[in-house]
Formats: sequence, structure tokens, C-alpha cells
Amino acid sequence: MNDDPPIHKMYKVHNIGSLTNCQRSLTKGHIVDSNTKSYGIFPSFSPLDPEFLPGHRIIDKFSNRFSFNLVNKKEKNHIKIRGQELDDLTLHCSSESNTAFVISNASIKNDIATSVSHIHSVNQPLIKTVHHASFVTNTEAELFAIRCGINQACSLDHINKIIVVTNSIHAAKKIFNFGSHPYQIHSAAILKELHSFFLSNEDNIIEFWECPSKLRWKFHHDVDKDSKSFSVTPSYPTKTSWDFCKKLDANESTNMWKMTFQALDRKGTHFLNLLDDDLNIIEPLYARGGLWLQVFGHSNSLCMRAVRAITNHAPIGEYRLRFFPNMEFACPCNNYPIETRRHILHECRRFNRYWNPRRDTLKHFIMFLTANPNAFAFIDN
Ligand SMILES: [Zn+2]
Repeated sequence: MNDDPPIHKMYKVHNIGSLTNCQRSLTKGHIVDSNTKSYGIFPSFSPLDPEFLPGHRIIDKFSNRFSFNLVNKKEKNHIKIRGQELDDLTLHCSSESNTAFVISNASIKNDIATSVSHIHSVNQPLIKTVHHASFVTNTEAELFAIRCGINQACSLDHINKIIVVTNSIHAAKKIFNFGSHPYQIHSAAILKELHSFFLSNEDNIIEFWECPSKLRWKFHHDVDKDSKSFSVTPSYPTKTSWDFCKKLDANESTNMWKMTFQALDRKGTHFLNLLDDDLNIIEPLYARGGLWLQVFGHSNSLCMRAVRAITNHAPIGEYRLRFFPNMEFACPCNNYPIETRRHILHECRRFNRYWNPRRDTLKHFIMFLTANPNAFAFIDN
């Protein structure tokens, strides 16, 4: 490995207006100049991209040509062991001119991400790629560093084996994740590159090695230092990436939900407001199914009864009185003229009063429903 690195390529994408045509084609539309967010001009992902077509995908055709070497965290000295493994790997490959080592890292400072990759190969000058982008997520910056490294390694002559060393193995795994995720534009580009690499020689392989940052393994540490050594000021601070736009939109939608939920009566006049463990009113969220479903979404019957009770659309007297006034609406306990939700939850002797200690928390509400499987169910009580 060569210790005298020339900076091979450096594009400051925030200064996109000054890029040459060649540089523009190499940046592959990772980011665009825009003072206002506009989805139309972002490179869009095509679901019909050949890299994602079943039967044509890397996992279908070359499943034995890529592998991941993860740190075994169950091992007591896993950091030390990984350091030794990486040292052995480097020593072993230092005599093999057909191997390219890609060491990648990214860091984010003042909303500017710096993606760096170093490409080592025997008898070749060290290649460095450095890219800056504003308002991108850390995973995207890490994946982009890997993308640049693989791109450079594939362009070298006589390379049969690419070894990618990264501290962000979850980003590397996105490459082979064929489900829907926000990094597909990078996955597609990397997969295309690997496709040609694997096709060009049946011995060609790629390995991904996890290198935890705290190991401070020399070659990775060098990349880490590089990624933190830049101090970039964006020339267009309002420029946003696709992911950042999505994040803003998600926040906007969530706030809108919360506002509608609080200010307007869109949730229905009979909605049962419940509290969380900190006694705050539960608000709508999109993460992990929202706060209500997290508690009762695991059981269909519990979920149905909970939804009926919360919306007060349940087979109880109060509902029948509103919509079918000719039907019976008194409580079967004969102690109450109308079988209301409140009566069921708080007073009716037909039910176990698990809910009484705290009458308004979601947790106790679910305890009540679990202890009383007949409550709000379509069965004869
Ligand atoms: Zn009753």
C-alpha cells in the first residue's frame, strides 16, 4: 500500500454550477442545485430498473460472489479480534495485485456530509474520493462513500477481488436490500457496477468487512481523519436532498395530524381520549404503527374491541340508542337505564374493574379489555 496519496477526485457538489461535464456525469445526479425543494428535478428511482427485476438481480445470478464479514459481538474481545483479522487480511492481500481495498467513511458537520473513500491496490497510487453534500442522512453519506469506492475499484485493471472496509455495515447491506428504501438510487448504481464486474470474470468477488470506529484501525482511521478534516460552507444553504425533503414532509404531515387531532373535531365527538404513562394525551404518530396500535395491534380481537370502545361504535346500549332507538338500550345488569361506555368501563358490576386505579391511561384501558373479554364484543352477555 502506498502512503503518498494524490487526491484523485474531489467534487464539491454544493458548488454544482462550476462542475465540468465530465464531473457532472460522474456525480450521477446525487444532488442538484435548487433553492426551493422540487421533487421533479431529482433523479427518480425506477421500479423497473433491471437491477431490481426478479431473476435478473445480483442475488439471483451471483449470490455466491458477495459476502459480509460482521464483527461477532458475542465474542468477549471482538474489537481486538477484528483488528487482528483486518491486519491479517491486509498482510495477505499485500502480495496480491488483483485485490482492491476500499476503505470508506462519512461524517456530518453543520449539515454538510463528507463522504470519503480510499482505494488501495498493490503497485497503484492510493486513490481518494471526497464528496460533500448538504442535508443528507448519515446512512446515505456512508453508502455514497462505498459507492464511490466500488466505482473506482471496478475501474482499475486486473482486479478480481474488492474488499470494502466500513464502519457502517448497515449502509452496505442496503445495497442488497431489494425492498423499498430511500437509498435505492445508490443501490441501483452500485448493483449495476457489480453486475458488470461479476460478468467480466467468473472469479470476481466482493467482500464487505465491518470495522467498528472504536477499533481505530489504521487504514480506516486515516479515512475517518480525512472525512473530518473538511470545513465546508454551503453556497446555497436552502438546497435540500430527496431524503431531507421526505423528512420535512413527514414532519409536516405528523404536525398536521396532531393539530387536526387537537384543534378540530375530526376524530369524532365520542372519541375516548387516553393518556400515556406520563399522563400526556396520546397523539398520532406514524412510526411503528402509532402509539395505540403498539399496545393492542398484536391481537385482532383485542384491537377490534379497543377500536370499538375508543370510537364508541360498539354493540352497546349507548350506540343502539343513537342509531336503533327501537332496540334495547338498558344495561343487562339492570342497574343503569342506558348501557353507556362510561358505565361499562367504570361502574357496571358485570365487568371486572381493572381499569379503576387510573381511569384514563391506555395501559389500564387495555388491562380492562384483557380482563373482560366480553366487553365491547359481539356476544350475548
Ligand atoms: Zn351495567
